[in-house]
Amino acid sequence: MGATGSIGRSTLDLIGRDPASFHVVALSGNRNAELLAKQAIAHNAELAVLADPSGYSELKEALAGTPVEAAAGEEALMEAVGRPVDWVMAAIVGSAGLRPTLEAVRQGTCVALANKECLVSAGDIFMETVAKSGTRLLPVDSEHSAGFQAIDLNVRESIEKIVLTASGGPFRTWTAEQMAKASPQDALKHPNWSMGPKNTIDSATLMNKGLELIEAYHLFPVGPEQLDVVIHPQSIVHCLVEYSDGSVLAQLSSPDMRTPIAYSLAWPARMWAPTERLDLVKIGSLSFEAPDYERFPALRLAREALESDNGATTVLNAANEIAVDAFLDCRIGLPSISALVAAAMEAADRAGLSKPRSLDEVLDLDEQSRGLARSLLKELK
Ligand code: NDP
Repeated sequence: MGATGSIGRSTLDLIGRDPASFHVVALSGNRNAELLAKQAIAHNAELAVLADPSGYSELKEALAGTPVEAAAGEEALMEAVGRPVDWVMAAIVGSAGLRPTLEAVRQGTCVALANKECLVSAGDIFMETVAKSGTRLLPVDSEHSAGFQAIDLNVRESIEKIVLTASGGPFRTWTAEQMAKASPQDALKHPNWSMGPKNTIDSATLMNKGLELIEAYHLFPVGPEQLDVVIHPQSIVHCLVEYSDGSVLAQLSSPDMRTPIAYSLAWPARMWAPTERLDLVKIGSLSFEAPDYERFPALRLAREALESDNGATTVLNAANEIAVDAFLDCRIGLPSISALVAAAMEAADRAGLSKPRSLDEVLDLDEQSRGLARSLLKELK
């Protein structure tokens, strides 16, 4: 799922290097019919699905004369997810990934989870479904893949703290005044990682690290107070797990998503990945600093939402998606992303928030929060 995106392309890059070990059943995109058709043909997929039905004829035409079946629409995507497969990459961006990813979990398919918004928007329900279906969930986000590798579940009560690292993004050294004038082009220049636009903007505001704190809370056996963030501009150390005897276990690798993706493809074994090997002498030094919550309020908002445990993370996620789109369209400035999220969280709280108890309740709250954020957006302009 999300084959045409950044994570999807990296996944297919790895699979394409070892075609004897993998059989691709289905690939999905949203609108990019041309690339999806090319990928489906190159990887001998059985089925190619576009979530947005408007690209169906283009996809069908591009696949004419090939054995690949073409389909489109949300239900076609759900049907594809329902096909019996061993492994699915969940790399749709945003809460649009929630229903199909949950469906894969319900099927008991091993899910490689890149889509962090699933856990931010519907963490409790998502993890309850994982427990019920007995499915294996493999984190793909580099920090969570690192944590998964460094956590010893046999001594889970001895884990004192989990620290996620953040590069600090393109504005790490910018003043608040400079950040107020930042353009989408400035924000899209991530110093270390190559990612899709939503994740890149989230990294520039540090909302990405806030979403990852919430993701880590649902994936790992710790409370919110045991989760921490540290800025590490080189993006070499991805996560640190501190134990009660003072030991800290960490995972290190070059900033290339093909390492955590390869881990999720081969788990519990390891496969070769064509990533740059770490040369610590060449890197010379690794540095760490505390996050600045004044210039990056998104991180504080995400922590507040996590601690409130009342559905605020669903509101945070939905409002952030609306705000990032508005920033990318040059309708608001960078500081307005966090301002909009904060305003939506406050308004939702005043209106009486309560924790969603089912997927339908999450989807309702997500929809309402988007409406709220859209109306607040007009006041921000
Ligand atoms: P991209 O924007 O590069 O790709 C998103 C994918 O989702 C594309 O295939 C896109 O299709 C598809 N898509 C978009 N909207 C919809 C929709 N409404 N329904 C179905 N499919 C849709 O994103 P990334 O690959 O960067 O990120 C994917 C997920 O992985 C995100 O949740 C992100 O937070 C997470 N992640 C990404 C990392 C990275 O390095 N990129 C690192 C860690 C996590 P189309 O191309 O046709 O528009």
